[in-house]
Amino acid sequence: MPQPEVTSPAPEPPARPRTRRAARPYAWGGRNWFQLGVLLLTLALGVQFYFFVQQALGQGDISVQRPPGVEGFLPIGALMGWNLFLRTGFWDPVHPAAMVILGYAALVCLALRKSFCGWFCPAGTISEWLWKAGQRLWGRNWRLPAWLDLPLRSLKYLLLAFFFWAILRMGVMEMVAFLNGPYYKLSDVKMLHFFTQMSGLTAAVLASLVLLSLLVRNFWCRYLCPYGALMGLLALLSPTRVERNAGTCTNCRRCSQVCPHGLPVADKARIISPECSGCLDCTRVCPVADTLRMKSAGSKRLNWSPAVLGLVVGGVFLAAVFAAEVSGHWQSAVPQAELRGLLRQIDSPAISHPKVQLD
Ligand code: SF4
Ligand code: SF4
Repeated sequence: MPQPEVTSPAPEPPARPRTRRAARPYAWGGRNWFQLGVLLLTLALGVQFYFFVQQALGQGDISVQRPPGVEGFLPIGALMGWNLFLRTGFWDPVHPAAMVILGYAALVCLALRKSFCGWFCPAGTISEWLWKAGQRLWGRNWRLPAWLDLPLRSLKYLLLAFFFWAILRMGVMEMVAFLNGPYYKLSDVKMLHFFTQMSGLTAAVLASLVLLSLLVRNFWCRYLCPYGALMGLLALLSPTRVERNAGTCTNCRRCSQVCPHGLPVADKARIISPECSGCLDCTRVCPVADTLRMKSAGSKRLNWSPAVLGLVVGGVFLAAVFAAEVSGHWQSAVPQAELRGLLRQIDSPAISHPKVQLD
């Protein structure tokens, strides 16, 4: 008797990826508002510092408070301060906010990739606005060929290695002398003068950087910024990364197209590059639900949305400033009278950069 034919059930068709409403490539988002806020705050602090210095140079009372936040522009002194602190436990009282801001940047990058660069750094914001402006002007940005891109990308690491070499070889007394010397006490004013009393050479260098930044995405951050190089190296230790679900990815390549650092997001299962700035632009434009996410290791549920990441990056900064302020690690301890005396001699040889011994 013929046996009935046994047929196995037809395999289930693969589930169709769920599409979702994604942001348009390069559309202005919450991160851009965050960056704008930090940039405006930085400009306001710069203006306040300018008026403080003007008043300090005069004979009358000083009614404008010196804003410690300007010390964020003194990363080399901050590195030296941290080196001294880790070796001796002594906290630099001259520019303590510089150490707080560097410590904050390092902390968020250790936890959340190079998010200090992608969300907070004003130089990163200007760099990003410039390449986006270039894109509107010329309809595109240019990528340097690999033979030029790779050696140029090492420049920022070489600069960082030089600063580390110069700082780590200093003895404790040498660092104490530098941090308490007149040059470092006025280094924030020197930085202000870098912009307000710009030399022709400085203006030419800045103009060249602007032009290059209009042409090449993130020219400054990608090739020259040693601060970003340090943050990128720290970010390699971060447990957080962008992950792509190859099973649902439709290979539309929008993520790779918008990545400000030219990372091949659409070709990787996860992004572990030191260049990833945690900007989340790739996840915003992905049109398929649950396909591209920034996740932290050990937490299956935690999916970093731009809103949550922005809250954490901003919240940690406010917490760090508050903690430093109430614990006396934020305001400079240099007395106003001493500062006024030094300011009057700012252009004298006594206030020049101390010589670095290279032997
Ligand atoms: S991989 Fe994504 S989060 Fe990282 S820099 Fe590129 S676009 Fe931003
Ligand atoms: S992961 Fe990238 S390539 Fe894949 S669907 Fe999302 S945007 Fe498109």
